[in-house]
Amino acid sequence: MFRFLNHSSFIMDSILVDPWFKDSIFLNGWNLLKEFEYDINSMYYEYIWISHEHPDHFHIPTLKQIKHPNLKTIIFHKTLDSKVIEFVKKMGFKTIECENNQWYDLPFGKMMVHSNGFDSMFIYKTKSGKTIVNMNDYQLKDAEELEQFGITDVDYLFSQFSYANWAGNKEDAMMPKKAQRIIYDRLSIQFKVFKPKNWIPCASFVYFSHEDNFYMNQYTPTISDIKRFADSKNVNCIFPTPDMVHNERMGDNAIQYWTTMKKMISPKHKNNVQPLEEVKVSFLKMCDEIHDKNDMSLFDAEETYISVPDWGNVIKYDIKNITFEIVSQLENDIEMSSECLHFLIKNKWGRGTVLISGRCQINYEKANNFFNQTNLWYNNNIGKYLGKNLVLNEVVNQDNFYQRLIGDL
Ligand SMILES: [Zn+2]
Repeated sequence: MFRFLNHSSFIMDSILVDPWFKDSIFLNGWNLLKEFEYDINSMYYEYIWISHEHPDHFHIPTLKQIKHPNLKTIIFHKTLDSKVIEFVKKMGFKTIECENNQWYDLPFGKMMVHSNGFDSMFIYKTKSGKTIVNMNDYQLKDAEELEQFGITDVDYLFSQFSYANWAGNKEDAMMPKKAQRIIYDRLSIQFKVFKPKNWIPCASFVYFSHEDNFYMNQYTPTISDIKRFADSKNVNCIFPTPDMVHNERMGDNAIQYWTTMKKMISPKHKNNVQPLEEVKVSFLKMCDEIHDKNDMSLFDAEETYISVPDWGNVIKYDIKNITFEIVSQLENDIEMSSECLHFLIKNKWGRGTVLISGRCQINYEKANNFFNQTNLWYNNNIGKYLGKNLVLNEVVNQDNFYQRLIGDL
């Protein structure tokens, strides 16, 4: 039926899903619980389905290893700027840019991709009559979003089983529980709508692998917790292991396998200190671009204070008045290494990377100031500019996953 490879990746009929097999991602914040060597050139597939542009799904070094991209077709959902599709076309791949909620015929079945503009999921119906749904880490809004497809009693449901981002500071055991409840609620909706005959937990076979975020591993749910959750919902759950070919009579020693892998983890990466002057130069360059592309007379938000432990300083950070300076006050809105700070200044998407990697400590009461100062750059990444196609309240005091997590504590 399918061959599981690792994390979110598997092969089903002639479709390879989200290939990522080794190396750290998200600023050295994540590694696979178990790396497994695969030769992508000796696998049989014609299509590659990519769920979204996060590197645990869209892993460019892995795609670059493919010797004859012109013989493969990448399936990706339509987005505002077609950035990913254009990128893989340049790499030489053929592409199918999917319209939302439309069926596409493939050699062994038909596929429908549903997207919210960033993430996507698929429903696949094989010619032999099986239905497979891959929810992955899709950020589901509500049950209606899935009910609209009229699909139920699916044969296999694949979905993420744990949170995958910053979920609380050191010593905070409550926030991770809350983050996991959000995941359980999302899974409950999927189970209710799709009534899966088999649930394949996936997309969480990673650990926080940097010395900054390693503490988070003690709070992530165990594989046995996930099994108990599935049992409580009367869902048959099959944990996959790398290079496992699924068949109907398969046994279940996977719980032991992943539990052992999790016992063997240790921090792999250390901070890479950045010189303050270099970071300041990058900040000024970023502000040049922000002021050039956005109408900054419309921008209105307080400055943010960022503590940088490897500099032993707090930085006042203000994109409107172009301020990046050491201040004597100790109170701050967020704490992160100079490496993380430099990364989110140099890369428009970097703020997302830092939060997903979990390499930061957030001041729960004041985090909003930090989001307000960094949302605009983050929006510029997806082609949204203040005064053009973006209004102030989309970047200031905005509702997002982290604020919801912190919000009703
Ligand atoms: Zn993701």
